[in-house]
Amino acid sequence: MNNKLISVVVPVFNETMVIESFYQHMKDVMDSIAQISYEIIFIDDGSRDDSYQKMVRLADADANVRIIKFSRNFGHQIAITAGIDNAKGDAVVIIDADLQDPPEVVKEFISKWHEGYDVVYGVREKRDGEGKMKLLTAAVFYRLLKKIIKIEVPVDTGDFRLISRRVVDKLKELRETDRFVRGLVSWVGFRQTGVLYKRDRRFAGNTKYPYSKMLKFALDGITSFSSVPLKLATWLGYFTSFLAFLYLASVFIQKALGFTVHGWATIMVGMLFLGGVQLICLGIIGEYIGRIFNATKQRPIYVIEDIYSTGGKE
Ligand code: UDP
Ligand code: MG
Repeated sequence: MNNKLISVVVPVFNETMVIESFYQHMKDVMDSIAQISYEIIFIDDGSRDDSYQKMVRLADADANVRIIKFSRNFGHQIAITAGIDNAKGDAVVIIDADLQDPPEVVKEFISKWHEGYDVVYGVREKRDGEGKMKLLTAAVFYRLLKKIIKIEVPVDTGDFRLISRRVVDKLKELRETDRFVRGLVSWVGFRQTGVLYKRDRRFAGNTKYPYSKMLKFALDGITSFSSVPLKLATWLGYFTSFLAFLYLASVFIQKALGFTVHGWATIMVGMLFLGGVQLICLGIIGEYIGRIFNATKQRPIYVIEDIYSTGGKE
């Protein structure tokens, strides 16, 4: 028996409507792959419905299932982190519970891994059942990110991917607080490749990513890999001083030609504009300071209430 062990990491937050179908589907796929054994690690990210009870029943019936229960909701990226930290496998697969990432694709991930790749990520070729706004914001975000960060994060990919043991071990050393997992994976490097797949609509239930969480996520992505936004203040400064100079010239000319200055409107516009620019710059600096603040506190990234597998708590 030289079976390789695959750990399937599944973040779960209020997924009572999908959890059983997901499990069944995932299990069928994993059982159909030759010469591997597997564990399914559910991370219960502080669900307030009965997702946890349902997972406990799954774990009681199947020794391949483990549940890491968080003490409260810590967020998707942190749930994934806990899964990676606790995975025992030779490779780890990260997949959403809502069946938007089709379990079948994991077969292709594994065969690419056998070919020698360390990271195999899913590339979304088509996204059904996703709002126009979500698609647009996602498209803009991934392209913007690509422009301003120095490491290569592939466009149109999520966290749906397989990572090899040596990537996992490196990831475990990166203990930053505001985490952008796919960026961290790119940062680690090694041989990476993509597999095209069609992202289905959610099987049931609602998205757990309202715009507020998406914004935090996007900001984490940018600020943890780039300090370009901080330089924006300098550029804006140059740009507005340049405009001010042009305007000054025009004021002199007007004066020379004998126009009297009815300056109220211009002053107001100038003031408001500069006020806006200053606030934006302060805000950007604030985003970074907030994250420095979080990092210096050195709190653990998450709190595990207990770990459950067949036969009870570990
Ligand atoms: N999720 C989580 N914690 C959260 C939000 C989401 O563990 O705070 C899980 C969720 O259960 C799902 C995955 O992360 O398995 C992706 O979330 P969702 O499908 O809501 O995001 P979307 O696909 O709409 O971007
Ligand atoms: Mg989803």
